[in-house]
Amino acid sequence: MSQTYTRAEVGKHNTEDSLWFIIDSKVYDVTDFVDAHPGGESVLRQVGGQDATVAFYNLHRHEVLSKYEDLCVGTLEGEAPQVVTPKPGDLSLVPYAEPLWLTPAYKSPYYNDSHRRLQKAMRVFTDTYITPEAQQRELDGKKISQELVDRMSAVGMLHMRLGPGKHLHGVELLGGAVRGDEFDYFHDLIMAQEGVRANARGFQDGQLAGMVIGLPCVMNYMKDQKRKKAIMDEVFSGKKYMCLAITEAFAGSDVAGLRTTATKTPDGKHYIVNGTKKWITNGVFCDYFITGVKTDKGLSVLIIERGEGVETKPIKTSYSPAAGTAYITFDNVKVPVENLLGEENKGIYVILSNFNHERWTMACATIRQCRTIVEECLKWSHQRLVFGKRLIEQPVIRQKLAKMIALVEANQSWLETITYQMCNMPYKQQAQHLGGPIGLLKMSITRAAHEIADEAVQIFGGRGLTQSGMGRVVEMFHRTYKFDAILGGSEEVLADLGVRQAMRQMPNAKL
Ligand SMILES: Cc1cc2nc3c(=O)[nH]c(=O)nc-3n(C[C@H](O)[C@H](O)[C@H](O)COP(=O)(O)OP(=O)(O)OC[C@H]3O[C@@H](n4cnc5c(N)ncnc54)[C@H](O)[C@@H]3O)c2cc1C
Repeated sequence: MSQTYTRAEVGKHNTEDSLWFIIDSKVYDVTDFVDAHPGGESVLRQVGGQDATVAFYNLHRHEVLSKYEDLCVGTLEGEAPQVVTPKPGDLSLVPYAEPLWLTPAYKSPYYNDSHRRLQKAMRVFTDTYITPEAQQRELDGKKISQELVDRMSAVGMLHMRLGPGKHLHGVELLGGAVRGDEFDYFHDLIMAQEGVRANARGFQDGQLAGMVIGLPCVMNYMKDQKRKKAIMDEVFSGKKYMCLAITEAFAGSDVAGLRTTATKTPDGKHYIVNGTKKWITNGVFCDYFITGVKTDKGLSVLIIERGEGVETKPIKTSYSPAAGTAYITFDNVKVPVENLLGEENKGIYVILSNFNHERWTMACATIRQCRTIVEECLKWSHQRLVFGKRLIEQPVIRQKLAKMIALVEANQSWLETITYQMCNMPYKQQAQHLGGPIGLLKMSITRAAHEIADEAVQIFGGRGLTQSGMGRVVEMFHRTYKFDAILGGSEEVLADLGVRQAMRQMPNAKL
């Protein structure tokens, strides 16, 4: 690679025996590669001996080049690369690709040095460890590797994903980026937003999302403190997996309608559980099921261990099987009464207790995923040539981008306003004052995601429907953005909740 050439020297290599070209000031010898080129031989011959930079970026992602570094035979004399190659942890230089607080020249009242340290450490971790595995698992559909789980556990990531609280005290968090006792909802927001940059929606849930929604029920409602600690240790260390099993074929939005029964044995020591659960994230591979059941006078929640009478089978959805989405059958499963979480017949409080955090986390993630789509569209419309012009030169394309940017920035600002309230309100007050706004925020961003996914595919054309190459992130998003509009409370149900909660504050007098 230390060899340098002039453009005239490269120009001579345009024959059957020697085929060279230039991309971004680097000289590539593709003589022996022409037969292997996925796009065929002729397109390479068309640029033989020439500068192929514009042609290359009209079709390819920059990362394609890194696969073919061994074809590079030198650089152009006196010229330097213009294309920026990001390193793990780097911020994007594309406008609106980062939230404003990470954009030079902008200020924010919400983030301090510990937030910035955490963001940096989490981005390096995601780029280095999560993204490569996430992309692999999206392809092969396998569950997350134990190696990655162990790595996440060792840096306190599993703890952090449950949000602020005592469970973080004394835990080393990403090499000391933040102390457990100073971890707040803005740190939590950063974890949620940085994590989704792996661009793999199925794996994102496969990355132990079941634990994030299931374990709080144990932490807040398990009475036996010794057992509680043992289960938390098993789950936080990544040795055991957990899911939240509420939904059934008969009961989704209408949680109260569930039909799985738990009947006490005559000696009062056990429940016998019978029924089914549908679409349970991580259920295929988990060890503990936090399960909604019908007891004699209402709903209750039990922690059920995988064992006799428990069966799980995968459900094929439009995202990757890496999520471990399961259909579960409980057939005369014997569960000790000590496994009851909270009070018998008052399980609805256990179920509702974590809804706000779950929905808020989903809003954080969806906003960040939408931002990535904006970045993809800005990059593509800047480099794609159609009718002899870059797409960005078309006013129609700029209008689409303007709408997408505005949707992302408006939702991020609303998210930060709500997050600030969460940081300054005890949890009980949050349930009273923020359940509605969080529901509306989640609805707002999933509606925005619908618009953004649609416009992004139009900007990418055929590539937006293709699972490899330039459009693969847009294709993934367009295929999966609906998950966030249904899971954790659907758009209609959350919209209704938001307005009903607001109406409680409505003055009685006619206005
Ligand atoms: C991939 C995947 C993973 C999931 N993971 C889990 C999990 O880990 N644990 C778990 O317990 N559940 C999980 N779920 C279930 C999910 O929470 C439910 O699908 C969701 O709550 C909606 O329930 P439903 O599908 O039965 O739709 P339904 O309740 O049948 O509703 C159908 C449609 O009607 C609308 N609707 C319902 N009621 C009203 C109303 N009052 N007014 C207006 N419109 C209404 C809804 O918005 C929805 O669009 C998962 C689902 C999927 C697809």
